[in-house]
Amino acid sequence: MLTGKTALVTGSTSGIGLGIAKALARQGANIVLNGFGDVEGPKAEIAKLGAKVGYHGADMSKPAEIEDMMKSAAAQFGRVDILVNNAGIQHVARIEDFPPERWDAIIAINLSSAFHATRLALPAMKAANWGRIINVASVHGLVASAEKSAYVAAKHGIVGLTKVTALENATSGITCNAICPGWVLTPLVQKQVDAKAAALGVSNEEAKKVLLGEKEPSMQFTTPEELGELAVFFCSPAANNVRGVAWNMDGGWAAQ
Ligand code: NAD
Repeated sequence: MLTGKTALVTGSTSGIGLGIAKALARQGANIVLNGFGDVEGPKAEIAKLGAKVGYHGADMSKPAEIEDMMKSAAAQFGRVDILVNNAGIQHVARIEDFPPERWDAIIAINLSSAFHATRLALPAMKAANWGRIINVASVHGLVASAEKSAYVAAKHGIVGLTKVTALENATSGITCNAICPGWVLTPLVQKQVDAKAAALGVSNEEAKKVLLGEKEPSMQFTTPEELGELAVFFCSPAANNVRGVAWNMDGGWAAQ
């Protein structure tokens, strides 16, 4: 379905971003990966699916590096047709204890980076009259939790940015939608499981149950594979008129 299209997924060396990149690769898209840590492993996983794969190591907190990434993706593949703004970090602390530099980093990586990548992707999408922008928000784009001020602010912000992007392009072939996962067992969440296990003096498995039990009625983690399939739907012709939604996949979290 996506043969000949190019998808750039930020923060795709791990977790949800890699799951989405793999799902889009299975549909035939060329993939541009981004993120830190092991790069060769994720590149090999995408190549095994038969997709052409590129990589750019832009730090998503740095607008000049984002600009370089968008330019080099276009130089390598002609155009970015599908932009998945996924890179994100977390920090957990009450507001009075929240380090201001962590606030700035979370707003830059989880929110401002999506603005920069979107503004740089739109001209080529407009010229082609086709584009898909998928913002990986969170259930924290819809509801709040204590001790996550920067994350919740950034995720509510990205849901707002999603709606504006969708509206500004509503009469074109460019759509923009957000995905709002509940708990997904990635390195970002494993850190919170570890903290819970240490705080309560319980096992890793017990801590996972406590974490799920606090928020997620299904008592199940959403998987990167399931989120990848939602991204594929947003890229399909059936989703041509899905514009500006914030679609939660959260085991009933936000339904409470
Ligand atoms: P993860 O830690 O597994 O992956 C994060 C990715 O972002 C990695 O590839 C990392 O290298 C990259 N990254 C981090 N800082 C970066 C920077 N400055 N520049 C470029 N890349 C950077 O986390 P994840 O759980 O897969 O999270 C991905 C997205 O999903 C985030 O936006 C997160 O907020 C969101 N999300 C996660 C969950 C969850 O439960 N895991 C739930 C809702 C939303």
